[in-house]
Amino acid sequence: PRNILERDIKYIEAMGVRIKTGVKFGIDVTLDDLKKEGTAAVIIAIGTYQGLKMGVENEGSTNGYIDCLAFLRDYARGEQVVLGDKVIVVGGGNAAIDAARSALRCGVKEVSILYRRSYQEMPADRNEIEEAQAEGVEINYLSAPVRIIEKGGEVRGLECVKAELGELDESGRRRPVPIAGSEFVVNATSIISAVGQQPDLSWNKEGLAFSVSPKNTLLVDDNCHTNIEGVFAAGDAVNGPTTVVEAMANGKKAASAVDVYLSGKA
Ligand SMILES: Cc1cc2nc3c(=O)[nH]c(=O)nc-3n(C[C@H](O)[C@H](O)[C@H](O)COP(=O)(O)OP(=O)(O)OC[C@H]3O[C@@H](n4cnc5c(N)ncnc54)[C@H](O)[C@@H]3O)c2cc1C
Repeated sequence: PRNILERDIKYIEAMGVRIKTGVKFGIDVTLDDLKKEGTAAVIIAIGTYQGLKMGVENEGSTNGYIDCLAFLRDYARGEQVVLGDKVIVVGGGNAAIDAARSALRCGVKEVSILYRRSYQEMPADRNEIEEAQAEGVEINYLSAPVRIIEKGGEVRGLECVKAELGELDESGRRRPVPIAGSEFVVNATSIISAVGQQPDLSWNKEGLAFSVSPKNTLLVDDNCHTNIEGVFAAGDAVNGPTTVVEAMANGKKAASAVDVYLSGKA
């Protein structure tokens, strides 16, 4: 809730933290700028603000296909979002649930979630899943997107395929394996993609060269220190999409590491 957020921000400011809004690190202010200002240590905690692609045909080129974060941002700003009567949200995390419930609040008649694994593997919070279903969101498990169906550049539906669970993958969850011949089509006026996020590191170029993982997250050592002297990183930008609690815990760890770094206790 916004009032809780406001209270927390005021609390942080009262502790002496100066907050500059509307400034993009790497674009409006660079690491060099900060160093020239005499900044001795930096913590990068930029979250994961780049939506991943579903990797299906017609993605991105069709009107009615929307990235989850863009949709939630526009909705939160009170902008008018035209979704039509039937929305499919693809994904299984809290972001997918938020998008589905927000779509209902936009007045959409039918909202369904398409998730490629089963309920057990779904990363969204259990209570959020139940609340979404109680509000009327339908969840289709073990179903994966194959192709966005369009006509004249407008979304008309989603071709999907049924999946079964196979061997464990690198995430420790059973891998969804498409069942040949089980393709089916769901009509839709809009498709919201919520299949994951990564940090927006588009600024990490031209001589900066922060080390990144294969998942495009910032690499740090045990003390949250990046490969660049005096620059630390924390939260989802390091660990990928997690939870508020985990990001806050990691932020505290980074703050302690900076304290040690600045006071030369290490
Ligand atoms: C839709 C959605 C729903 C979620 N629901 C839940 C939930 O129910 N429960 C839960 O525990 N977690 C939830 N999460 C996850 C949770 O929000 C994150 O794990 C947590 O906020 C990460 O904290 P962070 O500080 O690392 O990054 P963030 O909270 O993402 O903050 C990063 C900040 O950095 C800013 N930023 C980005 N790039 C730059 C730049 N170049 N320069 C300056 N600033 C920049 C961003 O605008 C943002 O304000 C959800 C996430 C999403 C996307």
